[in-house]
Amino acid sequence: MAICWLDGKLMDASEAKVSVFDHGLLYGDGIFEGIRFYQKVPFRVLEHLQRLEMSARAILLSIPYDQSALQSAIKETIDASGQTDGYIRLVVTRGAGKLGINPKSCAQGSVFIIVDQLEMVNQVILEEGARVMIASTRRLKPDGLDPKIKSLNYLNHIMAKVEANQAGFDEAIMLNHMGCVAEGTVDNVFIVARGVLKTPPISDGALDGITRQVVIEIAKEQNISVVEKSLTTYDLYTADECFLTGTGAELIPVREIMGRFLASSSRPVFNKLQTAFFEFVAKESGTSSSVKVA
Ligand code: PMP
Repeated sequence: MAICWLDGKLMDASEAKVSVFDHGLLYGDGIFEGIRFYQKVPFRVLEHLQRLEMSARAILLSIPYDQSALQSAIKETIDASGQTDGYIRLVVTRGAGKLGINPKSCAQGSVFIIVDQLEMVNQVILEEGARVMIASTRRLKPDGLDPKIKSLNYLNHIMAKVEANQAGFDEAIMLNHMGCVAEGTVDNVFIVARGVLKTPPISDGALDGITRQVVIEIAKEQNISVVEKSLTTYDLYTADECFLTGTGAELIPVREIMGRFLASSSRPVFNKLQTAFFEFVAKESGTSSSVKVA
């Protein structure tokens, strides 16, 4: 059952309501985090709360609860859901105010935490790899809205996803204003070229993904060389392997980008990293065996 903690109260998620005057709804004025939990333990929760805090500071939004209160609320919501593994959506909105964008009219932010299940892609895609397009919708420039802010404004990502849907692809990769690879609509992008793992630097317009950080850590432990460098579509088309990472996505292999089949269909580096990722998750959530075999 989907459960929601809304400003201190637990309820069935279908009963949770926010005001039509909430600027999160009216203007996308708010921030959020998506967090997975495994064996009832939220994965990398401190990193998520830290990123939430940074997003809040960047948009001058005061979160009405401190980090330990948010941590307790997350735990309470997981417990109430009765689920062992699942997905948490933590949202902080600017709160209810007057019509008109001025955030000064919003007395207090609103916080809600939903615990539910999330299936980003189906099992076939996980096994065979996703078909990906390059969207014509670009990632925003940092002097417009910095991509490091995980705000409720996802409209350009949604437009990229719409492009993928319309063209019959599973996911879209977005470029930045310079034409370099930024990220997927809700995930970071990695490629493998001649044994080297490559991902664009955050400064190329990606969210500082927590799964991305974990994958980089794991790759280093596995003695796989990792470089953060700008990537072009040429790099994607000519890569041996490509995969996407994210809290919802975990690790999704890519098999085809705009009609180009990636050189390696056996994906040795991806397989190694995916196995290591689930071992890492199992270790952090205190279970001895791998929690999931994709
Ligand atoms: N980029 C975007 C735009 C996202 O929404 C997400 C999902 N939070 C990611 C990348 C992946 O980040 P993370 O691994 O922290 O979930």
